[in-house]
Amino acid sequence: EGDRALLTGEAGEARAEDAPRPVGVLAVVGRPNVGKSTLVNRILGRRAAVVEDTPGVTRDRVSYEAEWAGTDFKLVDTGGWETDVEGIDSAIASQAQVAVSLSDAVILVVDGQVGMTASDERIVKMLRSAGKPVVLAVNKLDDQMADYTAGEFWRLGLGEPHAISAMHGRGVGDLLDAAVDTLKRAEKTSGFLTPGTLRRVALIGRPNVGKSSLLNQLAHEERAVVTDIAGTTRDPVDEVINMDGQDWLFIDTAGIKRRPHKISGAEYYSSLRTQAAIERSELALVLFDASQPISDQDLKVMSQAVDAGRAVVLVFNKWDLLDDFGRQRLERLWTTEFDRVTWAERVNLSAKTGWHTNRLTRAMDTALASWDKRIPTGKLNSFLGRVQASHPHPLRGGKQPRILFATQAATRPPRFVIFATGFLEHGYRRYLERCLREEFGFEGSPIQISVHIRE
Ligand code: GDP
Ligand code: GDP
Repeated sequence: EGDRALLTGEAGEARAEDAPRPVGVLAVVGRPNVGKSTLVNRILGRRAAVVEDTPGVTRDRVSYEAEWAGTDFKLVDTGGWETDVEGIDSAIASQAQVAVSLSDAVILVVDGQVGMTASDERIVKMLRSAGKPVVLAVNKLDDQMADYTAGEFWRLGLGEPHAISAMHGRGVGDLLDAAVDTLKRAEKTSGFLTPGTLRRVALIGRPNVGKSSLLNQLAHEERAVVTDIAGTTRDPVDEVINMDGQDWLFIDTAGIKRRPHKISGAEYYSSLRTQAAIERSELALVLFDASQPISDQDLKVMSQAVDAGRAVVLVFNKWDLLDDFGRQRLERLWTTEFDRVTWAERVNLSAKTGWHTNRLTRAMDTALASWDKRIPTGKLNSFLGRVQASHPHPLRGGKQPRILFATQAATRPPRFVIFATGFLEHGYRRYLERCLREEFGFEGSPIQISVHIRE
C-alpha cells in the first residue's frame, strides 16, 4: 500500500522522506528471570517460544524495531545474558549498563511475585546515576491483587509502579503508553535521530586486532571527554577524536579499552557491545589483523556492520608485520572472503607505527558521502531505462519482467524501490546493483534494493 504511493511521483517522494522514524531507544532491563524476554516478545508481538531458550545463548541482535499506538521506537533486549563466573550482580550491572548507555529511556522490570530484592535496588542505583528516565514494570501480577502488590514498589522511588503480566498481556498497554510518553520527552542521547555535527564511528573487530592501539594512535594527546563539548551525547563512554582537523565521535571507547575477560559470557558481552556501538554509529571501521588468518569471527563482525546498513571502511592493521608472502596471501583472501563487500574501501595501516593512519579520514568521508547520497528520481529512471534497453531481464516462461519505475526511498544507507512487471531474478538484481554502483559511486556504503511486483 504505502509503497504504491511512491508511484505518484513528487508527492510519493515526499512521503518516502517522511518514512516513520523511531522516536528513540527503549531498553528493557532487570535481573534474570523477572520476565524481560517475555515482555519484549509481547511488545514485538512474537511468539513467546524464544523465552524457553537456554539462558546465555548468544543472540545476534539486541535491538528491534517496535511500534506502539502509531509510534515507532527501537527496543533493546537484554534478556538472555547470564554469567556463571563473574557473579550475578556484576553481570546484571554490566548488562544493564550497556543497555542503558545506548538507550534514551528504560523499562525496569521487577518480579511482583518475589518482591523487591537487593539486586533490584542496585540496578535502580545504577539507573539513577546514569540519569536516564525509568518506567517501572512490576511483572507476574496475573490476578486481581495486582495493583495492591505493585504498591510495595513505590519505595524504589521511580514513580508509579505499573502492574503487568507479560505472560498474559495484562497492563502492558498502559505500561507502553507511559514508556512511549517518557521516550518522547526524553532528551535524546542515543544519537539515533539527531544527525549532530559529529559523525559517529564504531571501531570494531574481534579481540586483539588492534582497536585500542588504533584509538590511541589516532587520539594522540588530543583526547577530549565528550561531556566537555556542547551538543554531543553526554555518554562518557564516547570520545571525540580530531583527525586531520575534523572531529569524529568514537562510540563506546570504554568498551574498546576494556580488556575482555576470559570467560564464556565475555564473548556474548563483547558482541552485545559491538552491536550496540554499531547501532549508534553511522560508520563502522572494521579492523582485521593482517598478520593473522581471517577468522569467522572477523567476518561476523564485518557482517554485523553491513547488515545494520552502516557505512563501512575496512582496516587491515599490523601491516608492519607482513612480508611479501603475507601480502600475497592477503590479496588472495581479498578476492575470496570479501566478495560481499567489494564496494568497501580498504586501508592497510599500522596502528603501532602510525603508518598510513592518515589515509583513514579520506576513506571515511567517502563512505559517509555515499551513505548520505540521494539520486534524483528522473536521473535514476533514465539510467535504469538505458540499462534495461542494453541488457534486458532474461525471458521467463515466455514473459519478460520489466522495470516500470524506480525511486530512492531512503538514504543512510541508500535504499531503492523498484516497481516491475514480474519477479526480478537474484542475478539481475545483482547486476542492477553493480550498474548503480558503477554509475553513481556509493563506495563504502551498502545499498538496498527492494522490488515490488505489479501485475
Ligand atoms: P528474563 O530472564 O528476565 O528474560 O525472564 P523470562 O522472560 O525468560 O521469564 C522468566 C520466567 O518467568 C519464565 O518462566 C516465564 O514464563 C515467567 N514469566 C514471565 N512473565 C510472566 C508473567 O507475567 N506471569 C508469570 N506467572 N510468569 C511469567
Ligand atoms: P584490541 O583488543 O583490538 O583493542 O587490540 P590491542 O590494541 O590491544 O592490540 C593487540 C596486540 O596487537 C597488542 O599487543 C598490540 O601491541 C598489537 N598491535 C596492535 N596494532 C599493531 C600494529 O599495527 N603492529 C603490530 N606489530 N602490533 C600491533
